[in-house]
Amino acid sequence: MKILISGSGIAGLTLANCLLSYGYQPVVIEKASSFRSIGSVISLRGDALFVLSKLGLLEQVKKCGVVIETRRFVQADGSELRNIDFRKFHIQQGGSIGIHRFSLHNILYEAIKNQIDVRFNTTIQFLTQNEESVRVCFQDGKEESFDYVFGADGIHSQTRNLLMGNQFEEQLDVGFSVFTIPKPEIFIKNLDTNQTLESLMPGYYVQCGMDADFAWGMFIYKQKYREQLKDVNNKEFLLALCKDITWGVRDIIEQIDHPSTIFQDTMTLIKLSKWSEGRIVLVGDAAHAMTFMSGTGGGKSMLGAYHLVEELMNCSTHHEAFQNYESYLKQAVQKTQKKSIKAAHFSSSDNQIMVYFKKALLKYFPPFLMNAVLKNLFIVKPQNTKNTL
Ligand SMILES: Cc1cc2nc3c(=O)[nH]c(=O)nc-3n(C[C@H](O)[C@H](O)[C@H](O)COP(=O)(O)OP(=O)(O)OC[C@H]3O[C@@H](n4cnc5c(N)ncnc54)[C@H](O)[C@@H]3O)c2cc1C
Repeated sequence: MKILISGSGIAGLTLANCLLSYGYQPVVIEKASSFRSIGSVISLRGDALFVLSKLGLLEQVKKCGVVIETRRFVQADGSELRNIDFRKFHIQQGGSIGIHRFSLHNILYEAIKNQIDVRFNTTIQFLTQNEESVRVCFQDGKEESFDYVFGADGIHSQTRNLLMGNQFEEQLDVGFSVFTIPKPEIFIKNLDTNQTLESLMPGYYVQCGMDADFAWGMFIYKQKYREQLKDVNNKEFLLALCKDITWGVRDIIEQIDHPSTIFQDTMTLIKLSKWSEGRIVLVGDAAHAMTFMSGTGGGKSMLGAYHLVEELMNCSTHHEAFQNYESYLKQAVQKTQKKSIKAAHFSSSDNQIMVYFKKALLKYFPPFLMNAVLKNLFIVKPQNTKNTL
C-alpha cells in the first residue's frame, strides 16, 4: 500500500508513526525546509496521551513535559485575583502534559526518520484520481502514483483546496500571537516554573510562562486592535497592546530579538460537510480546525490519525474506513468548535459588562460557580476517557 502524507505536523507525523507500526512506509512531504520552532507550549490531554501511549512515546513526552499546575490570574499591576489549581481540570480532561511544540515534533519525527522518506521543501501542485489510484504532480514537476493521499497540511490545507476549494475557513474577529524565547535574565515577580501568569484585560487576554530554559507568551485579542495598528511589526503591536500591564510581560517582549519570532494569526475554524473524497482524506486541522481555546486541536488530530489508520487496516474498503473515521470524530469536533467560539469571544471581549463579569468571576465567585463557568467554556472531555497518566 503506497500512501502519501502531505504535511509533517502533529497529524502527519502521527499518521506516519501509526502506519509504520503496521509495517507501512508512507512518503511524507513538508512545505517547510525544516521544522519551525515557533509557537508556545501546548497541552496534551487525554486524546493525545492515549495515542502517544499506543505508539510507545508517552514516556519520552513525559520526560520533556512542562508541568503547569497552577494558573495565577492577576490584574495589570500584578495584584492577584485568583490562583487556580488546574490539576482537578486536568483529571477531567484525561490528564495534561505541557510540552514545547518543537519537542513534540522532534519525538514524533525521531521515531520514524530513519525508516520513512520525509521530503522537505515539497508540496503538491495538483492531483487527479480514479478508482484505483491518485496521481500526484509535485511542485518540481515530478509525478508519482499513490493508493491513498492523506492531507495533513494544516488549517490552510493545499490538499483541501485542490480537492474541494478554499471556501471552508471560518475566521473569528479574534486574533492571537504566540512566542517562545530562550529564558531571559529578568525576574518576573511570583512566577514559578510550574505556573502561568495570566490577565484578562478589556479586549485581550495574556498568558505568560517559564521553564528552566524558555519563556513563552500567548495573547488573544479583538482583531480590530491589530487592524488599527497594521503598520507596526508584531513586537511593537504586543508592546502597544499591553501598555498598561506592569507585572513584567512587557520586559519579556522587549527581549524578543526579531518580530518574526512571534507567530500571529486570526482564529479560524474549518467546517466541512465531508472529510474525504475518493482515495483522498483530510486529517487534523485540514479537516476540522477548532482554534486552540479548548487545548485539544492537537489531541483530536492525533486521535483522528490513529483511528484512520486503524480503520484502514480493519475495514474491507477504504470508503468504509474513511466513513468510520469521520463518524468517530465529527460530533466531538463540532461540539468543541461551538465551545471554542464562546471561549474566544469571552477571552477577548471588551464589552464593559463582560469586563466586570470576568473580574468578578475571578475575584468574588465561590469556587464551585467559577469552576462551572470555566468548565462550560474551556474544558473538553477526551473521547478516550481512561486517564493514561
Ligand atoms: C497558539 C496555538 C496553541 C495551541 N495549543 C494547543 C494545545 O494546547 N493543545 C492542543 O491539543 N492543540 C493546541 N493547538 C492546536 C494544534 O496546534 C493543532 O490542532 C495541530 O497543530 C494540528 O495539527 P496538524 O498536523 O493538522 O496541522 P499543523 O500542526 O499546522 O501541521 C501542518 C503541517 O503541514 C505543513 N504544510 C502546510 N502546507 C503544506 C503544503 N502545501 N504541502 C506540504 N506541507 C504543508 C506545515 O508546514 C505543517 O508542518 C494550538 C494551536 C495554536 C495555533
